[in-house]
Amino acid sequence: MPPRYTVFGHPVAHSRSPDIHRCFAEQEGVGLVYTRTLVDKDKTAFVTAVKRFFDEGGSGANVTLPFKHDAFEWVQECSERALAALSVNTLIPLANGGLRGDNTDGAGLVWDLSENLNICLNNKKILLLGAGGAACGVVSPLLERLPESITIANRTAAKARELAQRFGVEYADFGQLAQRRFDIVINATSGSVSGEVPAVPADIFSGSLLAYDMYYADTETAFMRFARENGARQCADGLGMLVGQAAESYRLWRGFSPDVRPVIEEVRQGMA
Ligand code: NDP
Repeated sequence: MPPRYTVFGHPVAHSRSPDIHRCFAEQEGVGLVYTRTLVDKDKTAFVTAVKRFFDEGGSGANVTLPFKHDAFEWVQECSERALAALSVNTLIPLANGGLRGDNTDGAGLVWDLSENLNICLNNKKILLLGAGGAACGVVSPLLERLPESITIANRTAAKARELAQRFGVEYADFGQLAQRRFDIVINATSGSVSGEVPAVPADIFSGSLLAYDMYYADTETAFMRFARENGARQCADGLGMLVGQAAESYRLWRGFSPDVRPVIEEVRQGMA
């Protein structure tokens, strides 16, 4: 029987992970099965589904919304980056029957920024918009690249403060960003899902090297358009991050590092 993988989520029908992992398996030259598993929005249902999958011989799994924190709380062992993020998106079976949780989102983002988009993060001023699960997962990997500063700003300011204090970085209200300048602005809010742009002052993009939206779509996102119209030199969406984090999960499961760029292209074409 081929090795089996899955992604647990609710909703999960939209997930591109099966297509991405099919491309990786073709590169490795192996047959594997990667499915989507819809789970009721309930931690017990999630844990039951995960246990069943691995009891039946599953080789690895991804976790998406809303279960990343549940997975973090439940796994028997955690990587350092999952501990920093307080969330798990990759489950790896352990020899003793338990599960190890890892978080590859930050590695996916850093790969996309530095390798794919050729942005050197060292000594840069980074603004991170949002303080939800995605923002939480990327602060530590960004810090490892030694930026000059990271500033976190969020619609609910208290959440930005809490996240920033946990990592020892700066925080600001959206309004306090007026007349500030950043080299890289990363949108980790979910505003783009509904075409909304966070209420940040337009001048933060003036002269910025990159405006990056973690959300991805078949057309320019509202955030990317707003950033471009207000001076960002380059804009990108989060498809490279998505494929990059999947590649890191694949490496953890199989010890094979896929070539990510052609897969981004293939998924992008499939979205058109
Ligand atoms: P969460 O629900 O955990 O957090 C949502 C965040 O967005 C909160 O900070 C919330 O602010 C903020 N927000 C929502 N709507 C608005 C708005 N209209 N204006 C300003 N802020 C807003 O979501 P995630 O962190 O999991 O995901 C965030 C984004 O990242 C999504 O678009 C998701 O698709 C993307 N993502 C992409 C990945 C990739 O691989 N490319 C991986 C993971 C996520 P508040 O606290 O005030 O509610």
